[in-house]
Formats: sequence, structure tokens, C-alpha cells
Amino acid sequence: MESIGVLMLIPMNSYLEQELQRRYNLFKLWTAPQKPQFIKEHADSIRAVVGNAFAGADAELIEALPRLEIVSSFSVGVDKIDLAKCREKGIRVTYTPDVLTEDVADLAIGLMLAVLRRLCESDRYVRSGKWKKGDYKLTTKFTGKTVGIIGLGRIGMAIAKRAEAFNCPICYYSRTGKPDTEYKYYPSVLELASNCQILVVACSLTAETRHIVNREVMNALGPKGVLINIGRGPHIDEPELVSALVEGRLGGAGLDVYEHEPEVPEELFGLENVVLLPHVGTATVETRKAMADLVVGNLEAHFSNKPLLSPLV
Ligand code: NAP
Repeated sequence: MESIGVLMLIPMNSYLEQELQRRYNLFKLWTAPQKPQFIKEHADSIRAVVGNAFAGADAELIEALPRLEIVSSFSVGVDKIDLAKCREKGIRVTYTPDVLTEDVADLAIGLMLAVLRRLCESDRYVRSGKWKKGDYKLTTKFTGKTVGIIGLGRIGMAIAKRAEAFNCPICYYSRTGKPDTEYKYYPSVLELASNCQILVVACSLTAETRHIVNREVMNALGPKGVLINIGRGPHIDEPELVSALVEGRLGGAGLDVYEHEPEVPEELFGLENVVLLPHVGTATVETRKAMADLVVGNLEAHFSNKPLLSPLV
């Protein structure tokens, strides 16, 4: 296996890097001063690409690697991979579903609590010594709030289960209703937003779901509504989000992802009703190791002609 060339696109996890290095001829794209030149030089030996939520195999990279057989993504979101091109060229694609579901769902609940109970602002209140001058103001109850979920997939369902434990009525929108759940289905995002108090984005990012949360949806959620995004930044029209929050048309937001990461609109920095996380949905030691093992396991299976562990294409 040492002669098989594997191209890692960006640094993502040192354990994954070590495990790949032990097994394959690992090319680290970010170490190359001239990336196109580096790819050209090694194209004849690269048979696998490892990417993640930030960097995937786009059409240009796929075309530049004539011996590419498999793209193994260190993520469940595959919006950075040109899946159609992979299908067309018979390139296999694997990802890391399930092993990260719980962490992302936990974080979504954390964001709901943090926004409604102002956890981050309260923490700053104590640290800055303001408590000595008076109690922190009252906040808003989470238990019992209606939670609307866009995309009742693996993560959406795990969020629903957790929110149920807080006695939250659950409703959802996705392309089709799920007959095996009793959660209320709304056939449009607008209807969902009009009928919930907390709206959570948990769908995959596609051309259809880009800006699925627009001005109209934010207005429907309203000045007491809270928007949580643990999906992908481009699901939300970000300039519209900023104006909805600044103008008080939206009650609050908890965001793990942004349209132009790591750029975050500075207008949000001064808002108490907003909690901002640096895309850390899966960022625990345990989950990142499980994701790394799955990336490596898929490559090992592929290069030993065994069935892939988590194939997408
Ligand atoms: P999943 O099981 O495939 O769920 C995706 C859901 O999106 C499905 O329920 C699907 O429902 C829905 N969907 C797809 N197209 C839609 C559309 N046009 N309109 C409405 N809903 C649509 O994936 P998952 O494992 O739950 O992951 C979901 C997403 O979370 C990933 O794609 C990724 O972008 C994001 N994520 C973020 C983090 C983070 O760190 N913040 C970590 C992991 C994942 P229907 O098929 O019924 O429409």
C-alpha cells in the first residue's frame, strides 16, 4: 500500500494524517508552494483524495488526477465534492455519516440553551465583575418551546429526540414527510417558520437548499424566534440575517457555520442575542478519531477490493 498516492487537501486532524502516512504515500497539498505544479508532478501516483467540509474534490481537481479512484471525505457534508463528475468518471466517494450525529445534535441543543438563557453573555457578566453591581437580567425559557427542523435526517432526528426530552413539540420540513414519525410535517419552510419558536437548519447543502432561510422565512420566525444553524453557512442569506437581527425582526441566533468561513459578519459581534461558534459541530476528540478511522477504513477497503464501509457514490 505504501506506493499508493493519497492526496490530503488541507490539514484536518493529526491522527488521521499519521494513520494515512503509515499506510500510503501521503501528499499534503497545503505544504506545496505551487499547488497546481505539485498536483501535476504527482498526478500519476495519486489514486485517492482526502478532503473535508472545507475542501473537496471539485471538477478541476478531478480532471487533473487521471488515476483518481476514490474520494474519502472527513465529513458528512459533501457539498465541496463534484458528485456528478465522480459518478461520470466511476470515482467512488465515501463520507463519515452516523459517527458524528450525536455531537452535532448535542451542539444544536447547546446553542438553543445558550441563546435563550444567554449563557455566553452571563459568563462574560461574571468575568467582567458586573455581578457585584447587580443581578443579570431575566432570560427566556427553553423547555416547551416548539422546535422546527429543516431536514429530518440523521442529525435532524437526533436533535428532535433531544428536544423532546425538554418537552418541546417538534415539527419539520423536508422534501417529503416521514411517515414513521409523529412529528408535524409542514410542506414549506415558510409554514414551518410561522409555526415554531426555534428554527434549526439541519439539511444538506445543495443548489436547492442554498438560502433556504431567506428574509421571508426570518420574518415569519419573528422577533421572538430563534434561528439555529448547524448545517452549512450558505443555507442562510447572511446579509439578511444580519439586518433581521440588527433591526430586531428576529429574536436571536445560534450559529456554528457561516457563508464565508472563517469570516463572520462583524455586525454580529456586539449582539447579546447571538452565539457564535467556529464550526465545531464534530470537534470532539472522540468523534474526530471515529471519523478518521472511517476515512482510513474506507481507503483500506477500497484498495483491498472489499466493500466500502460508508459509500456515497
Ligand atoms: P442526512 O441524514 O443526509 O440528512 C440531510 C437531510 O436534508 C435529509 O433529511 C433531507 O431530507 C434534507 N434535505 C435534502 N435536500 C433538501 C431540500 N431540498 N429541502 C429540504 N430538506 C432537504 O445528513 P446528516 O448526517 O443529518 O447531516 C446533515 C448536514 O449537516 C450535512 O449535510 C452537513 O452539511 C451538516 N453538518 C454540519 C456539521 C457541523 O460541524 N456544523 C457537522 C456535520 C454535518 P429529504 O431527503 O426528506 O428532503
